Amino acid sequence: MTDTPSSISSVENTGNLTVMGGGLVGCLLSLYLARHGHQVELFERRPDIRGAGPVEGRSINLALSDRGWRALEGVGIAEAVREVAIAMHGRMMHDTQGGLTFQPYGQAGQSIYSVSRAGLNRRMLDLVEQEPGITVRFNQQCRRVDLKRQELEMLDTETQQERVVPYQRLFGVDGAYSAVRSALQRTDRFNYSQEYLNYGYKELTIEAAAGGQWAIERNALHIWPRGQYMMIALPNLDGSFNCTLFFPYEGPDSFATLQTPAQVTEFFGRVFPDALPLMPQLETEFFENPTASLVTIRCFPWAEQDHVLLLGDAAHAIVPFYGQGMNAGFEDCTILNELLHQHGHDWGRIFQEFEALRKPNTDAMADLAVYNFQEMRDRVADPRFLLQKKIESK
Ligand code: FAD
Repeated sequence: MTDTPSSISSVENTGNLTVMGGGLVGCLLSLYLARHGHQVELFERRPDIRGAGPVEGRSINLALSDRGWRALEGVGIAEAVREVAIAMHGRMMHDTQGGLTFQPYGQAGQSIYSVSRAGLNRRMLDLVEQEPGITVRFNQQCRRVDLKRQELEMLDTETQQERVVPYQRLFGVDGAYSAVRSALQRTDRFNYSQEYLNYGYKELTIEAAAGGQWAIERNALHIWPRGQYMMIALPNLDGSFNCTLFFPYEGPDSFATLQTPAQVTEFFGRVFPDALPLMPQLETEFFENPTASLVTIRCFPWAEQDHVLLLGDAAHAIVPFYGQGMNAGFEDCTILNELLHQHGHDWGRIFQEFEALRKPNTDAMADLAVYNFQEMRDRVADPRFLLQKKIESK
């Protein structure tokens, strides 16, 4: 069910569960909650992305792995997603001469999958909308949460109207810069840390070859490891690749030193020579696409009594080098679902067990993600590593 903005001001909180954030995790969580028979009211700051173009500045493709698939299977949507996913059987390394080395991810048949973030989000919004127990409200930004009064200060971003919405139970899935979490941050004994890398990232494109074919190997995650930085590329269904350049903000080779189109082209020609001819939009994209930062956010506790729970990036934002941020958020939903089966409506117990189970795992993933940056940008190109991989794969 979708509510139009004009009817919102007359509607009070109808659901007994409020989900803040209609991103990937918020949609999946809403489906799980509704399947348990709950009425869910889902608020999303953005307009309905199904009517808009690609969302600027966000990675277009994501790697979906086992823990993500399991969570999608739990609500019966894995097959629909599989139809638009491209298997990546391993890493394809590109050296500075354009030479290629392939490292399989596992035994035959084991793969991770490239899926479009917007496509997945759109598909999930379709499913959410079809679910009788869920009401979706777009253009609704949470400005503040009053934990004592259990009230949300909401802004309608279309009409600029503000209103107060009561909640009984609130799920904060509003991403790394969560408004729900910022209310918890003001409570006693709430631990919080955020750490930025000295690297940013920029989205770029390898165009499809003639006839919508893939100009480089389709079923691989491509990496151009260059020691202190790297570029990666994930395949799209239309033959193009979504590339991400992970690059220092400052230093000899950095965003600070690439200031003109000529400098960008010269740099790519020298460092990523086989990619450059496949990137006709490079100069435009490099200066038009934003440079985004990379942050790890840790906090605890994730629950406030049996009223509020954080999940997804709001609870544990990690850097993308392990390809597990969304997958971990999806796994949050799997675990919460199991606890709902075990404990029914005992929310206090569900929230407590959820955070105790998930926190050590997501902390470990946060560490692995930072570690894997070094591996991807540097160690995967080390001849000793390549030899070891060859021996392992025999
Ligand atoms: P988000 O996707 O951030 O969604 C939050 C939602 O809440 C948004 O829709 C937002 O509009 C809404 N919102 C925010 N604030 C408010 C508010 N105040 N009021 C109302 N609504 C609000 N993960 C993987 O698993 N695999 C990958 O390959 C991968 N690659 C990545 C590459 C990059 C470059 C980056 C940056 C991340 C990558 N991730 C990857 C991580 C992944 O994108 C996140 O972990 C995932 O999007 C988290 O989902 P979420 O729903 O918790 O948060």
